[in-house]
Amino acid sequence: MSYKFQVTKTQESSLSKVDFNNIPFGKTFSDHMFVADYIHGEWTNLSIVPVAKIQVHPGNMAWHYGQAIFEGMKATRDAAGHALLFRPELHAKRMNASARRMCMPELPEDLFLQAIHTLVDMEKAWIPPAAGSALYIRPFMIAMDETIGVKASETYKFIIFVMPVGPYYTNPVKLLAQDTYVRAVVGGVGEAKTAGNYAASLLPATMARKEGYDQVMWLDGVHKKYIQEVGTMNIFFVINDEVVTPNLDGAILDGITRNSMIALFKDKGYKVTERPITIDEVMDAGKNGSLIEVFGTGTAAVVAPVSHLKYKDQVLELDMNKRNLSKWAYETINGIRNRTIEDKFGWIVEA
Ligand SMILES: *Cc1c(COP(=O)(O)O)cnc(C)c1O
Repeated sequence: MSYKFQVTKTQESSLSKVDFNNIPFGKTFSDHMFVADYIHGEWTNLSIVPVAKIQVHPGNMAWHYGQAIFEGMKATRDAAGHALLFRPELHAKRMNASARRMCMPELPEDLFLQAIHTLVDMEKAWIPPAAGSALYIRPFMIAMDETIGVKASETYKFIIFVMPVGPYYTNPVKLLAQDTYVRAVVGGVGEAKTAGNYAASLLPATMARKEGYDQVMWLDGVHKKYIQEVGTMNIFFVINDEVVTPNLDGAILDGITRNSMIALFKDKGYKVTERPITIDEVMDAGKNGSLIEVFGTGTAAVVAPVSHLKYKDQVLELDMNKRNLSKWAYETINGIRNRTIEDKFGWIVEA
């Protein structure tokens, strides 16, 4: 199906004010955004308008009860200047999975995709040309009812805005395994990209930074020993010749980068295992020399190599000279994304 969007263009583009060689992260918005309203059980007012503030009533239910979900994806460009999307249909599906868990309405996948394509095509000039740079795309949905009382809202807003982001320098990160606070439990909302998960992570993340660590490594909520993920990334361990990542159990975010890495590693002939892995197993592997690499994966950083891992009073330091797989993975994903490496899985879609 093809939807009709009402398009209102900005009077004055702010593109000329942006220095693509020096983009402050997360603060530079493009000219236009996509907006849709969910009213009387259907998506309506499909429009592309200049980025502007929206009026929100103080009784807005998203503010009080947290019905808020989002996605994060990137558009890149190839040498010929085509705007490229990476597996956008998986983002459409995951947004709807988050919506179902948070009792929010789904968005037809074809509407989600048409909105992304139309907006990215319109804002194509905002895709920074430098390798590793991208146009970050943020689709999100929030409750809009003005009612106090815990229940599902009946009205919602779905918005997509885009922002240029510079190359995300993947300095090795230091992780602190958190054994007091937890991010998510099986049966909870860990698998949903919902706002509250990130609010819950802020205090432990602040504590980790005070200790000199960049991010928290989350352990499961019941035994506090099974590794889940880190910050906004999934996690991989290379132990001897096995690549291990925690299996999706409902508490772990089903990362699209994670999914892509698994396919790439298997294709390269690695033994990839999705299974429960304990922090003790990792610390032991670190001590006996069988732990070769640890890295996080996610849309923002793509791959973030881990240099230090602290658990209770033990600290593992990883040999950054051994980081072959994570380096290869980073270069491969970025190469597929700007079409300098063959897209043999068919992940790339022109916007
Ligand atoms: C978004 C996210 C990820 C990574 O998912 P990608 O689809 O690879 O970007 C991992 N963990 C959490 C908690 C996230 O929010």
